[in-house]
Amino acid sequence: MTTIIREIREQFNPANPAECIGQVELLTVDETKAIVASAHQAYREWKNKSSVARGEILRVLADLLEEEIDLVAETASREMGKTKNEMIGEVKRGASILRYYAQEGMRATGEILPSANEDKILYTKRVPLGVIAAITPWNFPVAIPLWKIAPALVYGNTVVWKPSIEAALTGKLLGELFERAGFPKHVVNVVQGRGLNVGQVLLEAPEVKAITFTGSNGVGQSILNTAGSTNKKIQLELGGKNAAIILADADLKSAAKLTIEGAMKQTGQRCTATSRVYIEQTIYDEVLALLIEETKKIEVGVTMGPVVSRGQYENILAAIEKAKSEGAELIFGGEPAFNETQGYYIQPTIFKNVTHEMAIAREEIFGPVLAVVKVKDYEEAIQLSNDSEFGLSASIYTENIQKAFDFIKRSEVGLVQVNDETGGAEPQAPFGGVKNSSTGAREQGQAAKEFFTTMKTVTINTK
Ligand code: NAD
Repeated sequence: MTTIIREIREQFNPANPAECIGQVELLTVDETKAIVASAHQAYREWKNKSSVARGEILRVLADLLEEEIDLVAETASREMGKTKNEMIGEVKRGASILRYYAQEGMRATGEILPSANEDKILYTKRVPLGVIAAITPWNFPVAIPLWKIAPALVYGNTVVWKPSIEAALTGKLLGELFERAGFPKHVVNVVQGRGLNVGQVLLEAPEVKAITFTGSNGVGQSILNTAGSTNKKIQLELGGKNAAIILADADLKSAAKLTIEGAMKQTGQRCTATSRVYIEQTIYDEVLALLIEETKKIEVGVTMGPVVSRGQYENILAAIEKAKSEGAELIFGGEPAFNETQGYYIQPTIFKNVTHEMAIAREEIFGPVLAVVKVKDYEEAIQLSNDSEFGLSASIYTENIQKAFDFIKRSEVGLVQVNDETGGAEPQAPFGGVKNSSTGAREQGQAAKEFFTTMKTVTINTK
């Protein structure tokens, strides 16, 4: 008999760091390898099931998720700090994603093409890849895993999913729902563990045909280094430094409200969060006053949760100190909201007079911090907003239709918003960025087919 000694991880509530909210057992490297092998076995039957039947199980999962909305939202909220209301919104979004991909099982999987020879039938057919490894972050502990796993499954792949260790209890709960929904054994597998061992196994396993990853640029790069030379397909959704531009002709009140929502929702811990705003000089003071007015409405501890962990808390406070030392002018917040023992809460923070060279204008902070930059005009704003290593999302606030269309054309991002905040995605729309924000095919909507399938071209000679 072999005794397996697993590491036990205790999860603590970032809103009350002394409160242990549960434990998870982390898998060993050998156990992870065995699970990947089982997912490979399960693929043989799963790929032959009709896509309609595969979609039906996703529909059952959507129902279950809605039934358990309170439990899932509460668990995730206590584990990673998003407010319960924010989590309820995310769980609903998770259910919509599942319903969208449940229907996908009934949609076309190829097209018929005309052949030059009238006796030939020529068509394409989408086919699955095999075992997919999904590696996900903590900041959308329900929606991001589901928008990877649901399309992977409906197109006939099996999945090995590694949730972030910071969202392990939520991952465990979702794993139980997958089981209750009726997926055959090992079609979808949750592997709990650290990136450097369990994650690494997924990158190296020969049975894994594709890796879909959302997380930081550093880890994304190491995935490219490890798996890039193999034949695995790779999809990376990484960081952002999303800009908003407010022009003098905009509805300023609405622009300020949406900019603050974009920056502070989910405590700024969204890859699409607004983290820099360029304001035309003629309206600069007026908009600053409106930004402050909107920020005062946020109730830390009620409408704004803590940041996820002590590490993240320290990183964000360090970024705030750096901004001060570089000469940015603090006009709101900038401090822990309470004593650290009362939770990892940081005040919503705004800096004005930020210049383009400062770290706060260029580096992802992933916290409730907004950098405000004064610009001469639209032209300067678009140039500065594009001068970034990132290219995930960007917004413009204007009533001028020519400028709006010019922005749509010239903005170097994957997601463009006009008169709306930089975040926000719908299950049917492709999601992803350019530059260092993304690598590989887009996620979500019909675009997901590109990553999770390959194509067969079939010719039938009828004579
Ligand atoms: P992270 O990169 O630290 O971790 C992401 C996942 O990778 C976790 O599951 C982690 O365990 C795993 N991992 C870590 N090292 C690994 C390794 N060597 N091999 C394999 N797996 C490994 O990111 P995070 O802190 O969880 O999330 C925050 C980051 O995610 C931010 O940079 C944010 O911008 C980004 N993000 C991007 C998007 C997007 O769609 N572009 C969405 C959400 C979050």
